[in-house]
Amino acid sequence: MSKVLIIGAGGVGRVVASKCADNPEVFSEILLASRTVSKCEVIAREVGKGRIQTAHVNADNVPEVVELINKFKPELVINVALPYQDLPIMDACLETGVHYLDTANYEPKDEAKFEYSWQWAYHDKFKEKGIMAVLGCGFDPGVTSIYTAHAAKHHFDEVQYLDIVDCNGGDHGKAFATNFNPEINIREITQNGRYWENGEWVETKPFEIKKSLTYPGIGPRNSYVLYHEELESLVKNFPTIKRARFWMTFGDEYLTHLRVIQNIGMSRIDPVKYKGVDVIPLEFLKAVLPNPGDLGENYTGETSIGCRIKGIKDGKEKTYYVWNNCSHQVAFDETGTQGVSYTTGVPAMLGAMMVLTGKWQGKGVFNVEEFDPDPFMEQIGKHGLPWNEKINIDLEV
Ligand code: NDP
Repeated sequence: MSKVLIIGAGGVGRVVASKCADNPEVFSEILLASRTVSKCEVIAREVGKGRIQTAHVNADNVPEVVELINKFKPELVINVALPYQDLPIMDACLETGVHYLDTANYEPKDEAKFEYSWQWAYHDKFKEKGIMAVLGCGFDPGVTSIYTAHAAKHHFDEVQYLDIVDCNGGDHGKAFATNFNPEINIREITQNGRYWENGEWVETKPFEIKKSLTYPGIGPRNSYVLYHEELESLVKNFPTIKRARFWMTFGDEYLTHLRVIQNIGMSRIDPVKYKGVDVIPLEFLKAVLPNPGDLGENYTGETSIGCRIKGIKDGKEKTYYVWNNCSHQVAFDETGTQGVSYTTGVPAMLGAMMVLTGKWQGKGVFNVEEFDPDPFMEQIGKHGLPWNEKINIDLEV
């Protein structure tokens, strides 16, 4: 029986809150806090089952978060605000001696740069304080990292080639929309691509490497190599990996819109003077694009995300594919939001459950693949994201 504080009332926050409310034997009291308290109130009313309290917090402000933690006294803070808030919330957890969990690594606001260095630098401080920080416990990073740990534990003596494949085979009926926070999403996919090969990073132009991959229940989709943050921790924690790549599907329509957005300067993250006021084009664009949390109602189709792995078992080459398919409609019917928020929020809740029930223990800062994958893999299906596996098939990659 533990108290949990959830920070961030977006699409992912809605799913985390709903799922924590479903599990009162672990989450005995739940406080959902965010910048706009009215959004917390809507979530509490619609999916809170009468179990969610709400509060206002500006998570950029460490003393404000500290004050909230001291008042509510949670055992764990689940951070599903934006990556910019990771460090202030970690600082507040350190000051108050409370465990921390998030789903995306820290990014400075003025530079689209994804790396764990800032958060890994907190390891000794968390260790000294006797608390733990769990980094990247969404789907990717998160479940994909745990799939890799599961494969390394149960299927391989040596994991050598890892391809994480992320397909959104859904249709929301809009000309252009992103499935999670548009600012974070567009910053991520317009960066140069990067993958790991033979001990070093190989850089690519955005969308330079393209291949048609076939996704279970969906079919063939154009897939592109991107840089994604879990690659950094996975190659560190599984040093036998010779090559690690991350693929994501994009439709031609989406890429055309994205190219126009970039060409006309709307993806810029530096301030532009407009009528005497500083405006950041990408922040303005976010304000006019559809809210990802509202895409669910007519969203059809499924996501399919998994790991395609090649390596050695008992001296022989082996391949392994492990994945989950999630229906946008089923996610919406249960939580009022679409599959991308659902596939992120369910693992965040389950990771919190792993910490609070003592299945995952440690002092310091950890990526999820460092924990025992078994209790998580046993439970994730029961909470809405069942997994499938195939052995010794053609991985296409
Ligand atoms: P949204 O933009 O829908 O929600 C973010 C929420 O955080 C909003 O309610 C926002 O408040 C709140 N917030 C922003 N700044 C602050 C602040 N300073 N203080 C308090 N609250 C704040 O995003 P999503 O729900 O789509 O995504 C949430 C997180 O999940 C992101 O970090 C994203 O990168 C991550 N993610 C991870 C994935 C994974 O698989 N690992 C996949 C998808 C997302 P307001 O309502 O006022 O704007």
